Amino acid sequence: MIQPRIVALDGPAGAGKTTVGSEVARRLGYLFVDTGQFYRAVTWLAIHTGMINADEESLTALARNANFELRPTGDGSVYRVLYQTQDITDALREKGLERKVSKIAAVAGVRAALTPKYRELATAHPKIIMAGRDIGTVVLPDADLKIYLDATLDIRAERRHQQSQSEGRLTNIEDTRNAVADRDKQDSERAVAPLRPADDAVHINTDHLSKEAVIDQVMAVIRAWKPASATIGEVH
Ligand code: C5P
Repeated sequence: MIQPRIVALDGPAGAGKTTVGSEVARRLGYLFVDTGQFYRAVTWLAIHTGMINADEESLTALARNANFELRPTGDGSVYRVLYQTQDITDALREKGLERKVSKIAAVAGVRAALTPKYRELATAHPKIIMAGRDIGTVVLPDADLKIYLDATLDIRAERRHQQSQSEGRLTNIEDTRNAVADRDKQDSERAVAPLRPADDAVHINTDHLSKEAVIDQVMAVIRAWKPASATIGEVH
């Protein structure tokens, strides 16, 4: 079976990109890269260096100079994020950080610093699923296959809430809903690389689907993929 080399997986917060993308990657032998983690990592660094309210130029320099390391765990499609040998992966999910990340991700220079790194990863790996907001539109517009995962706000908020609870974090559904809505707004209204589906993306609405059913659908879309015909026959 010929599989797409590069799969772009976009969608709003809580649509299931990470859960589904990493599992599909594991089952089909892809590397999974979650670009949201890099925006979170820059936000983490900005908070920890007292630069969260710094101007665009300083934030751009911070993103450009920061070296985050991705360390694969056992199965190769899941990895930890390290900064100067410190494992910051768990800190990247904290609510306080999450409230700031869309502001940092809207800074044009921060995006310009990170986007080439994603492209390098896509070039360096034989098979990659890359998740984010602008992968199919800006980062990898020539991706072989583009998938856009979506679900209504209430359902995404409910999933986020349950996930937080299962990880032992105290959250309130209303606060979670407001935080997700706020990120949706900031991510889709920003001037640079806003959240939106690519024109040629396959849309999957996950409202009434279990996690397993979404995984099955994404795998089915990948398996059904056919390469675009390389040559167009001459007409005589
Ligand atoms: O996907 P995740 O929720 O981890 O992303 C965190 C934030 O990073 C998003 O809310 C968005 O502001 C930003 N992001 C982005 N472009 C991407 C991936 C994430 O702007 N490709």
